Amino acid sequence: MKAEVKTKKKASPQDIEIKRAYRKKRAAIITAITVIYLVIVAAAAVIIDDRHIEITVFGDAEQLAEAGESYVDPGAEAFFTGNLFGRTKSPVELRTESDVDTSRLGDYTVKYSAEAYGRSAESYRRVHVRDTTPPVISLNHEQDYLASWLVGYKEEGFTATDSFDGDLTDKVIRTETGDAVYYSVTDAAGNECSVERVIEYGISEPMIRLVGGEEVDIGASFTFEDPGFEATDESGNDLTSYVQVSGEVIPYQIGSYELNYYIMNEQGETATAHRTVNIVPQPAEEAELPEGKTIYLTFDDGPGPYTGKLLDILARYGVKATFFVTDQFPEYEDMIGRAYREGHAIGVHTYTHEFWQVYASDQAFFDDFLATEDLIYRQTGEYSKIFRFPGGTGNTVSRNYNYGIMSRMAQTMTDMGYVYFDWNVTSGDAGETTSTYKVIENVTAGCSENTINIVLQHDIKDFSVDAVASIITWGRNHGYTFRTLDTGSCRVRQDPAN
Ligand code: ZN
Repeated sequence: MKAEVKTKKKASPQDIEIKRAYRKKRAAIITAITVIYLVIVAAAAVIIDDRHIEITVFGDAEQLAEAGESYVDPGAEAFFTGNLFGRTKSPVELRTESDVDTSRLGDYTVKYSAEAYGRSAESYRRVHVRDTTPPVISLNHEQDYLASWLVGYKEEGFTATDSFDGDLTDKVIRTETGDAVYYSVTDAAGNECSVERVIEYGISEPMIRLVGGEEVDIGASFTFEDPGFEATDESGNDLTSYVQVSGEVIPYQIGSYELNYYIMNEQGETATAHRTVNIVPQPAEEAELPEGKTIYLTFDDGPGPYTGKLLDILARYGVKATFFVTDQFPEYEDMIGRAYREGHAIGVHTYTHEFWQVYASDQAFFDDFLATEDLIYRQTGEYSKIFRFPGGTGNTVSRNYNYGIMSRMAQTMTDMGYVYFDWNVTSGDAGETTSTYKVIENVTAGCSENTINIVLQHDIKDFSVDAVASIITWGRNHGYTFRTLDTGSCRVRQDPAN
């Protein structure tokens, strides 16, 4: 058998080279096409997928928060995600900025933001802080309390508070009818609360309690003021206005007086109380002797046209005097204030200086006295406790108008704590002379005999005022000290002649 070997025709080296080049080119083209394809696919994927940050806000984007209560934000979350591959959400860090302040009513914003891989996102929530909680009214109840048919219901007390506005008790509007009390209050945000209290009535025995006790000592004065009393029933209803008081107290007259207090309730039950009022003298101040020889310059019947000049003279010499004042010249009233401010003593003389009027009766005297006290108070801010009777304590002219009034008033005014002064050195300027020289002579002659010298002059007399500088010079040269009168000064007095 003949073996037949088929052999391929051997390729030439040139052919091999051509084939290899061809394969290489093809591979390069395929690679290029693949790369371009992949790039296109990747680009398309990125564009279509649109990778971005997504923030999800939990709960409502607009929320109502109660004022005064704490606000808890429901929160949010952030992811890095895309359109095609949404399931592959990857969480990113979320930043929360909030200005919510529940202590102040208003509209607030919560801002959520996140940043990752060059992308960022923001989302918002609106929070409205409002007060929607109405206030609360609480009623107090007193155990066993029953309203009185006589005086009605006695408020047992209540309070109103609001969770945001706080205490609103003062704002409660209270309306009382016979059967009930209605309380209502509205807070600043307009939330209202109202409650009703049903009134229960009952009758219980009245009681009277005397403030200060059943016997009181009261210092004599122009007016009597009861030390006080109160009437209640067993429920504590205030029945005081139903108490009838009988009996009379003369407040300026020393003595014992009886007062009766009486009350009857609507069922005819009564209560009584009794009080003894002792009108006693006001404590008297002891008079003290001044040191050394003393002159008290006193001026009556002003202020008037020459009072200003007199005050200038006294100021020049540094001497203080005592003025017993009137309202005879109202246009000079302010001189009382000036004299007071410049250190002089002010006392009561009389408002009108009309004897027939002042001494018409005890009451007339009091009225005139009190009017003068008020005048002094208006000018000085103080009431004076010293005075001089018009005409002096020893005047006889008052006999023409009211028998015994000087004796009575001297005692009564003393009992009330007032101190009166007359004089022991007269200048004669009230009538016997109109000469400045004679005034000087009268005063210096009068003073030389005494240690305590209360000089009577009138500052409504020009010639008398002109004597004052010489009197002061003479007094100083003879070792006298000039002083003012007060409640502790020696009482230089005349005996009442009426
Ligand atoms: Zn007088």
